Amino acid sequence: MAADAARKSAPEGSLAEQARSFASMAGLLGDLREKVRLLEAVMENFPGGISLFDDNLQMVLCNRQQKELLEYPDELMAEGYPSMEDLFRFNAERGEYGPGDIELHVKRRLELARKMEPHCYDRTRPNGTILEVRGMPLEGGGFVTTYLDVTEQRRNQQLVAHMAHHDPLTDLPNRMLFNDRLQTAVAQVKRQGMMAVHYLDLDKFKPVNDSYGHQAGDELLIAVSGRIKKAVRENDTVARLGGDEFAIVQTGINKRSDASVLANRLLALFDKPFQLNGASVTVGISIGIALGPEDGQTSDALLMNADNALYRSKSDGRNRFTFFEG
Ligand code: GH3
Ligand code: MG
Repeated sequence: MAADAARKSAPEGSLAEQARSFASMAGLLGDLREKVRLLEAVMENFPGGISLFDDNLQMVLCNRQQKELLEYPDELMAEGYPSMEDLFRFNAERGEYGPGDIELHVKRRLELARKMEPHCYDRTRPNGTILEVRGMPLEGGGFVTTYLDVTEQRRNQQLVAHMAHHDPLTDLPNRMLFNDRLQTAVAQVKRQGMMAVHYLDLDKFKPVNDSYGHQAGDELLIAVSGRIKKAVRENDTVARLGGDEFAIVQTGINKRSDASVLANRLLALFDKPFQLNGASVTVGISIGIALGPEDGQTSDALLMNADNALYRSKSDGRNRFTFFEG
């Protein structure tokens, strides 16, 4: 109460008043220092690069991880933090954004940054490192940018995706990817054009396994896949459906003979023997062909009809191709 009375009676600008406002300012400063200390601790413990920009896109904080991850030289921040524009220019000049005009890189990125919109994208650095870059506007102004090294994560994701769609022995597309490609091709020829499904099965492959061993059989399957791949066009899909069965989606054709030309080329691939552990081994191949859209409106129907035609090739004596006949 006595203090209240004293406060009330003290004239404005008096020494007591000044002392009080100084004390409250010191308190605020202390609070602020504590907040900055906590902010710096958060930034230093962040599992990646993190930097803050003010409303004018001037960098105001940047953690050690960002400097290391992006290989910022000491000179870049020798006279304080750079502006976002200077940072963009520095990066463009050192090739961080790939080839192209430096000022155009800076302009495009600044335009995006000025929108102050949240964003997230992967950036592959010239050294091959993949960074996940996130930008987030802050409530009340400013922008925070984070960089996470996702190189290993992305490579693992790619590997898993590849393994899910490829045969581990030959690295050819597996049945799942083949079905995808087949469905795409079937949808295309519904509008226009023609396509063919070639269903392939090695002749008398079991005796090769029996005579030379399973491993030699595996090597033969790898060699066979190499030869088949060489016989097709880039847009065609060669897949291993399992065992000694392969299949091809032949696209971009417009007549039946385009399919028989490829089938003859495939048969000719097997004229020459394969070298397995010093032994010369000859195997043949049988092929069944179904044409889209005339032999089937769906991928399942086409594959089934190509398989029927393959069966005919086998029963007619092998080492030949047969067109499906409905
Ligand atoms: P056909 O002329 O009637 O096609 O007879 P085939 O001897 O080629 O035998 P078939 O096509 O009926 O069976 C394929 C054989 O391929 C069965 C199996 O012994 C062998 N095989 C299946 N998968 C693999 C594999 O991954 N590696 C090896 N080495 N052999 C395999
Ligand atoms: Mg076979």
